[in-house]
Amino acid sequence: MSAITSLLLNWFSAYKRDLPWRNFPTPYHIWLSEIILQQTRVYQGIAYYIRFVDRWPDVQQLAAADEQEVLKMWQGLGYYSRARNLLTAAKQLVNQYDGQFPNQYTEIKKLKGVGDYTAAAIASIAFNQPVPVIDGNVFRVLSRLFAVDEPIDTSAGKKTFQLLAAELLDHDNPGDYNQAIMEFGALQCTPKNPDCENCPLRDHCLAFAQNRVNQLPLKIGKIKVRKRFLNYFVIDGKYQQKCYTLLRYRENGDVWQGLYDFPCIETAAPVSLEELGQEDFFQRLKTVAIAIRQQGETVKHVLTHQQLFATFYIVHCKDGFEELKNKSLSLVAQSELGNYPLPRLIDRFLFENKNIFINCNA
Ligand code: SF4
Repeated sequence: MSAITSLLLNWFSAYKRDLPWRNFPTPYHIWLSEIILQQTRVYQGIAYYIRFVDRWPDVQQLAAADEQEVLKMWQGLGYYSRARNLLTAAKQLVNQYDGQFPNQYTEIKKLKGVGDYTAAAIASIAFNQPVPVIDGNVFRVLSRLFAVDEPIDTSAGKKTFQLLAAELLDHDNPGDYNQAIMEFGALQCTPKNPDCENCPLRDHCLAFAQNRVNQLPLKIGKIKVRKRFLNYFVIDGKYQQKCYTLLRYRENGDVWQGLYDFPCIETAAPVSLEELGQEDFFQRLKTVAIAIRQQGETVKHVLTHQQLFATFYIVHCKDGFEELKNKSLSLVAQSELGNYPLPRLIDRFLFENKNIFINCNA
């Protein structure tokens, strides 16, 4: 058993909540609680669970229930299809399985309304089958412990989490282990303000070590895509008889850190050349520009978290343009552009626009 697994089990035995279905971990009670708790807070679910068990203490009695009464009992929980599926599954159990829950994960999944998660919970908690459960709490705990950069809502991400969960599973005690990691996510490693200070897994937690706890887990659907509008100036000038341009070095913290692109004015929205007039760099550029013209249409370039809209202007310059260079802008011979690491956006622009440097081609 891994150190993480054993710490989780110790934590669970010390801090687990006293929940009514934990006192009767029969397949019927586990199933009922799991269906009620889907999309429902635990403490709201408890009252419903108790009413259901009082009224229908076993699957045979539930299977014989009137649908209207089941729906009435469900009232307030929402998602009424869950209540209808509950009743259908109870009838399935009585008619096809003699009122006995199947003990294999794949067989449990055949019950109406029972998905991967619920089947894994029933198989492991009620039947001690070594099947890991993965719910939102488990995704969060694993993504932080192992600093997983894959979004949880992609098929590649799901596979990664499935493997991690299977690795940590305690095969001798899968039910307790599954409940432990879910409970740990619900109480300790919470979505907001997890209690890292008092966490028994802190020394094993990569997200904590990397100061990334609040960034994980990643969810592609929730990643906010930022739009950026880049106005690039591709300088074309002669200096000491050679053809030069200017390249900008992208500093730390930039998405293209360590790469080079052209001098750029970034704006919050698309702007025309005239609207750039107030920018300091543009003012200085105009004093050495002979002609400025836009090259092609604005190009859209998509990164994971950003959409870039790049407009390229070719600026034919007279002597003195070399004065524009500074700490981040370097004078670079046009013939040596290929020696610099360039983002794909810039590389593609140069590839598709081979004859932009007229000064030097003339
Ligand atoms: S250290 Fe914090 S983020 Fe890491 S497992 Fe513990 S509570 Fe979760």
